[in-house]
Amino acid sequence: MTRLRRVCVFCGSAPGARPAYAAAARAFGALLARRGIDLVWGGGNVGLMGAVADAALAAGGRALGVIPEALAERELAHVGATELHVVRTMHERKALMADLSDAFAALPGGLGTLDETFEILTWAQLGLHAKPVGLLDVEGYWGPLLGFLDDALDEGFVRPADRARILVEHDPARLLEELGRERVPLRR
Ligand code: AMP
Repeated sequence: MTRLRRVCVFCGSAPGARPAYAAAARAFGALLARRGIDLVWGGGNVGLMGAVADAALAAGGRALGVIPEALAERELAHVGATELHVVRTMHERKALMADLSDAFAALPGGLGTLDETFEILTWAQLGLHAKPVGLLDVEGYWGPLLGFLDDALDEGFVRPADRARILVEHDPARLLEELGRERVPLRR
């Protein structure tokens, strides 16, 4: 097992339509804290972003936020964050979140979550990093996206090694275990 020190969570700035989404975000945040792993997240206090950070902090963990100055107001920058890095742009946000973290977990979310998750997967595909990336599949939320990626593989646009890199688990503890598993970087 690799010792994970910091895990980056990408997730919705909305709470989503089902209570299970926020419950999963809270479970994941609390689990990180119990394992002594710092949370790296978008620094916001809204939706699932707020839920994951609140839970990590309430369980005695550390939450490191990275927020662009233009969003600090809209996403209500979390005043309880252990560290809040205010950056200039969205691109700086993604780069700093990536640098700070040993692994990445995507919880349910919208366009921003998809953008962040696909950018980190694309960087892995290009060999710019070899950090694990996983999806927490709450109530089958990621199923249609994974089906699409399987079609993209069949159609020759996604390589098998890049599809295989995406870890998927329903249970927060299983996902964390998978993210921490020692693995040889996939060959491209
Ligand atoms: P959403 O999944 O759309 O609710 O967004 C989740 C988070 O992703 C929010 O903090 C958004 O501000 C953030 N986000 C959206 N687009 C980008 C981007 N291009 N780069 C970095 N963060 C983004």
